[in-house]
Amino acid sequence: MLLVGGGVASVRCARTLRRHGFGGSIVLVGAEPTPPYNRPPLSKELLRDDLPDDLVLAEPEAWYERRGIGLRLGARVAGLDTGARTASLENGGTIGFERCLLATGAEPRTLPVAGAEHALLLRTLVDARRLRRSAVALGDGAAVTVVGGGFIGVEVASGLAALGLRPTIVEMAGELWGGTLGGELASWARARLADAGITVRLGARVTELTESSALIGNQHLEHALCVAGIGVRPRTELAEAAGMAVEDGIVTDVEHRTSAPSIWAAGDVARMDGRRVEHWHSARDGGERAALSMLGMAVPPPRASWVFSEVAGTLIDVLGDARSWDEERWLFGGLVLAYLDAKRVVQVAIIDSAVPVEEARAIVERAAPLSELVALTAV
Ligand code: NAP
Repeated sequence: MLLVGGGVASVRCARTLRRHGFGGSIVLVGAEPTPPYNRPPLSKELLRDDLPDDLVLAEPEAWYERRGIGLRLGARVAGLDTGARTASLENGGTIGFERCLLATGAEPRTLPVAGAEHALLLRTLVDARRLRRSAVALGDGAAVTVVGGGFIGVEVASGLAALGLRPTIVEMAGELWGGTLGGELASWARARLADAGITVRLGARVTELTESSALIGNQHLEHALCVAGIGVRPRTELAEAAGMAVEDGIVTDVEHRTSAPSIWAAGDVARMDGRRVEHWHSARDGGERAALSMLGMAVPPPRASWVFSEVAGTLIDVLGDARSWDEERWLFGGLVLAYLDAKRVVQVAIIDSAVPVEEARAIVERAAPLSELVALTAV
């Protein structure tokens, strides 16, 4: 089995293959020099605190050895021949496979403005180290422009404020998270961010960057540092060049099978059953489900999405990724937010682990009546 991509989707795939008794060869090819690691801490703990790399590894290095999983790090697959079932490496050499998982992830978008190179981006461990180094080198109270008020923007601004800096989030949309999490959670978050000394500017677009300022309208916002988190682009080049179906991600069925026989896709790069989800839980679940399918085993239905994030040090969990709802209702003294559609719970946001996440997730999966969620808050 060949697993292309050094993230958690590949690791969970390898783990599931071995757990289900697959005794053949498994080779994981990753472009970064570090063994696969978890990205969620990069914009949270690793920014706030001085922590060792080992802490973020998806599995310790010895784990791969013990399970006979070959790691080819600092290596890139340059081409796939889906007929001959071979992958050619950028630095020369070919790997043959019976089945292959594409988990090539996504890369950050760069700001489409003059001076974009002045904004730090955050995707890799190296990026995270550079951001923390730059931030701690600045004096207390230094101004930082954070372009984008999505998951990266909110988490990074929170971390920078905890380090004593003075961030301003500049978000193009009319609401944080591009409005995807609704008005109630966003306005709760804006209040938390304001308490932490973070300014949020909505409906604002940066049109030019210099080392020391961002141009917004006709105003120059001065800063000592600029970070951008304006979304990602799935890395689909390999699949496209191999003639596979691609449409904002590698198109797969519900079992992660691509349009090419013997090739599966999971993680940020996969558009599984019409949806591409860019979160850690989904990458892990996807890797596991793809492994079952690669082994010809029964694949359970996908779980409701589960996203966790932090807003000025407070944990939020969001279960479900409903595209629409007709009511948002706070419960439990403002610690649980129900997103309702025709009185059914289609999404839930939980603040500070106020109720058990898995139980709320099951309620969302059943689109259960609100009373079930209310009962959970009464326990
Ligand atoms: P994101 O969550 O998609 O948010 C990007 C935000 O930037 C959107 O609100 C977008 O608004 C806005 N934006 C786009 N262009 C802009 C511009 N020129 N000026 C100002 N704002 C602009 O992406 P991200 O925050 O960059 O995160 C990158 C990836 O890492 C995502 O896949 C994310 O899910 C993942 N991540 C996840 C977590 C987590 O799950 N806790 C944490 C960190 C990162 P529009 O929507 O209007 O375009």
